[in-house]
This record gives sequence, C-alpha cells and structure tokens, in this order.
Amino acid sequence: MAEKIKKLLGEDKSLEERIFTVILFSALAIVLISTIVTMIEKLSIFASLFTLIAAVILVFVMIINFVWKKEKLARIMLCYVTNCLVLPITFFSCGGIDSGMPLYFLAGLFLIIPTLKGTERIVCFAISLIVHICTIGISYNFMEGNKARTQFDHGFLAKLELEYRIIDMIASVAIVSFFVCATTYLILSEYQKERRKKEILLEKLDDLSKKDELTGLYNRRELFRHFEMVGLFSERKYYIAMFDVDHFKNINDTYGHLFGDMALKDISTALNASINPSENEIAARYGGEEFVLLIRAKDDDEAFERVESIRRKIERLKWNDYPNLSITISGGIISCFEHEKLNTMLSQADELLYKAKHSGRNCIMSQKNAAE
Ligand code: GH3
Ligand code: MG
Ligand code: MG
Repeated sequence: MAEKIKKLLGEDKSLEERIFTVILFSALAIVLISTIVTMIEKLSIFASLFTLIAAVILVFVMIINFVWKKEKLARIMLCYVTNCLVLPITFFSCGGIDSGMPLYFLAGLFLIIPTLKGTERIVCFAISLIVHICTIGISYNFMEGNKARTQFDHGFLAKLELEYRIIDMIASVAIVSFFVCATTYLILSEYQKERRKKEILLEKLDDLSKKDELTGLYNRRELFRHFEMVGLFSERKYYIAMFDVDHFKNINDTYGHLFGDMALKDISTALNASINPSENEIAARYGGEEFVLLIRAKDDDEAFERVESIRRKIERLKWNDYPNLSITISGGIISCFEHEKLNTMLSQADELLYKAKHSGRNCIMSQKNAAE
C-alpha cells in the first residue's frame, strides 16, 4: 500500500497530480477518523452512516482519478460533492452549530484552492460558501426551534448533548487543523521538490551552454565572457596560451575517429588539471583540436615554464590500446598586460603557434624565443 502511494507521488507525476493525490488521501483519512468520532459520541446511526457514505464517495472519486484516469472530473466531483452534499448533510446529522462542523466547512473550502483552477475555482468557492452559509442559517429553524428539538432529537437532525459538545469541538479542532497543516506541509514539500528539480535542470542547462560536450572544457563563447569578466589588461599578470594537437588528422586516419575523440578528452582533462580556477584561470576548447588557456604567472619565464610543463605532460600521456603512441601539442604564449586589444593578442598567439608548428612541432613559442 505504502509502495503504491509512493508510486502515485512518483517523479514521473506532475506537481498538480501529486498534490491532488495528497489531498485525496488526506480527505479519506479525515473522513474515516470522523466516522470513529461520531461513533464515540453516540450520535444517531445517520451520523456514522453519512460519514461512511462520504468515505465511499471519496473512494469512488479515487477510482475515477487513478483507475479511469479522469482527473478533471475527479477534481470537480471532490470539491462539489464535499462542499455541497457531504458537508451540509453531515452538518445536520453530526450536531450542527453546536458541533465542530463549521470547522469542516473551512476545510472543505480550503481543499478547493489547490484542487481547481481559474474560473472553476472561483465558481466552486462561491457556490460552496453560499451553501455553507445557507446550511448554518437553515439549521437555526430546524435545530434551535423548540419544536424541532424535541421532534428530531436522536433522529436525523441530531443535537449534541452538552458533554459531547466539548469533545466534538476538541476532536474537530484537532482533526481539521491536522488536516489543513499536514496538507499544506505536503503541498509545500511537493513544491520544494519541484523547485529543486528545476534548479538542477537550470544548473545543467547553464553548464551545457558554457561547456563543450565532448571535452567538458569551457566553450569559445564562455572563454570570451571570461576574458571580459577578469579584466585581462589589468595589473594582474595574465597569459594566454594557444595549443593545437600535432598531426591530428593522421591520428584520426590511423586510429579512427572514436579514438581521436577519446584522445581529445584525455588531453582536455590534462589541460584542465593544469589550471587553477580560484586564480581565474580557465581552459577552453577553442576549435576542433585547438585549446586556449588563460593562466597567471609572476613573469614571462614562469608563464613559459608552466606552458612547457603542460606540453611535456601531454607528451607523456599513454593509451592502453596503443602503448607506444605519443600525441604532442604545439603552442604559443602571449602576455596580456603588454597588450590592449584581445583580437591582436589572439592573432599574435596564433602566429606564435604557427611558428611552433614550423619549427618542428611539439614545442612552445613565446615572443622571446620567437625573436631569437
Ligand atoms: P597540424 O600538426 O598541422 O595541426 O596537423 P593536423 O593534422 O592536426 O591539422 P589540423 O590541425 O588542421 O587538423 C585538425 C583535425 O582535427 C581535422 C579534424 O578531423 C580533427 N578534428 C577536429 N575536431 C575533432 C573532433 O572533435 N574529434 C576528432 N576525432 N577529430 C577532430
Ligand atoms: Mg592540429
Ligand atoms: Mg587545428
């Protein structure tokens, strides 16, 4: 049973469906508890009978909803039958104005709000409110008039004996407040679950829009956004390193495109492990097998040495299927604080990369060693 209820509240169900399930089960619980209370209070047989009929009606509404899958009909039926039929009848049979029934009217009106939508909600609320007010008004004639009191005592229109009024009021306050609070709590927790789901989805979408699918590195768009964000030309010493994998066409042709993809992933992981994000450093996939790193260093020599060590790291990468294979990269490195324009800086880094390719690949070119 618990498993089945869990399934009804499952992740595949919409928020509205889950909330309606919570309401249906809460309503069934309240009706069953009320049946027991009416028996304890030794009200007329009608009182227990009507609360039992209410339970049967609720089970019927559940069948309409869960078995016949007519959710809209079930929602409308629950609200109208509860407010315009079950509650007015039980009001008369369970002690009227002397009992805790007016509290149940409140609970009946409360369940309309999350169950129906738009105009249906307003219309049902208005009709139910009128029915409740009329029921209380009419009860004066039937239940308070001397004639009616003697005539209907212990009959359908039952009056509560004095000692049971307090019991009924306590029981009603407890039942109705528990129902309202528990239902509100469950509805809120369903909303929170939904909000968390949306937050996770948004985080995923945000990640997808920033990162490259194959390598997991930041994409070109995010790289440029990062450049703008950090203030490249400030006093903080940033360097841009541009890399291109050597003879990658050959690698694809020799070992297959799938292996090529795997090699790109492994190279990207190594590049990503070489940067320090807390220093605003970033590794991005700039093109097919081209990568750009933004790093910080105290001077040109330190920056060059860092990029050289990255090159050596890539050179040492090993693949189980091809233990003798070594994939290398060439790169160009340029300092940001000596420049004013990103475009000229990137084209100079590209030029240095081009020079690295022409001087035999598997090496890093800086402005200093290019000039030598
Ligand atoms: P060079 O040393 O001059 O750079 O030679 P190269 O063969 O690497 O030349 P180039 O940089 O022009 O080659 C790029 C190749 O990278 C061509 C393309 O098929 C391959 N490539 C680009 N993106 C991907 C990818 O996502 N997966 C795979 N497997 N290959 C890619
Ligand atoms: Mg290449
Ligand atoms: Mg290339």
